[in-house]
Amino acid sequence: MPADRFPRIALGHFPTPLEPMENLRRALGGGPRLFIKRDDCTGLATGGNKTRKLEYLMGEAVAQSAQTVVTCGAVQSNHVRQTAAAAAKCGMECAALLERRVPDGGGDYEETGNILLNDIFNARYEFHPAGGDMNAAARELCGKIRAGGKSAYFIPGGGSNEIGALGYASCAVELSRQSEECGAGIRRIVHATGSAGTQAGLLAGLAGLNNGVKVTGISVRAEREQQRRTVAALARATAKINGGGEIKDEDVIVDDRFARPGYGRMTGEITAAIKMLAQTEGILLDPVYSGKGFAGFLAGVREGVFDGDESVVFLHTGGVPALFAYRSHFSKAA
Ligand SMILES: *Cc1c(COP(=O)(O)O)cnc(C)c1O
Repeated sequence: MPADRFPRIALGHFPTPLEPMENLRRALGGGPRLFIKRDDCTGLATGGNKTRKLEYLMGEAVAQSAQTVVTCGAVQSNHVRQTAAAAAKCGMECAALLERRVPDGGGDYEETGNILLNDIFNARYEFHPAGGDMNAAARELCGKIRAGGKSAYFIPGGGSNEIGALGYASCAVELSRQSEECGAGIRRIVHATGSAGTQAGLLAGLAGLNNGVKVTGISVRAEREQQRRTVAALARATAKINGGGEIKDEDVIVDDRFARPGYGRMTGEITAAIKMLAQTEGILLDPVYSGKGFAGFLAGVREGVFDGDESVVFLHTGGVPALFAYRSHFSKAA
């Protein structure tokens, strides 16, 4: 693969499993064959989709002999937690800026879940008010660290640039191979989309394979057209360094129904989706990303959006530590 030209370090367990969801299919009364791609099992610090991106990003950081990696995210960022773990593994420091993006966060939200894990990995982090340009602020911090005489490597929020997205271009190849080997016949991938690197990387990888597999991104934050533009631009930049392939506008499919009322905000649909997968297949989702993504997946199956004979895979992007920061929504009284 052309992506092999880029430095990469091993951080996770690959290939992740591709599993059928027969109990869920029965519970839904039939319909398309349903699978789940377990990128919650990538292994790095409880796993998740940032591991694949970090294999390339940290590969570049190591190649540049960086002493510190600098990144940013929301307070309960899974990306920051996995970056903190990757930095520890590579013998680097990790500095992160955390945006107070979710209103009424506080208590559990700023103390447990991913925050607790950042502390265990000895990451340095500071909280920022909502609404600023977090990537610009992280770049600025990177500059300050360099001015102080240490080499620093900047990783954008979500690890979403064309280097990070290469991780999902290789995931597209991995998934297509698995689907062929086990006869799953997957025609569509559904997953939560935020900083866009996952969907962009998948589209870039699939453009190279040209096998007609479609991707639906369930937006966790941005409205549909804005998210489509972000994904398309990054997918084209990624395809360029990954050996080409055309990404047409109509290949970039986004459903934004679950983005409301906002990033990190719970709804009854998300709680119901999380409980549905837990109680049929014994698999945990998170409230911010994969729970929304799965709510969108369920809606698509129920509404017959996916053709009846089409096999559909839900790409589980991880995020389970954040469940603990949202525990009040799942208590018996809730
Ligand atoms: C970051 C994240 C996503 C979104 O992936 P992007 O590449 O940022 O679009 C989805 N699920 C989880 C659990 C995440 O942490």
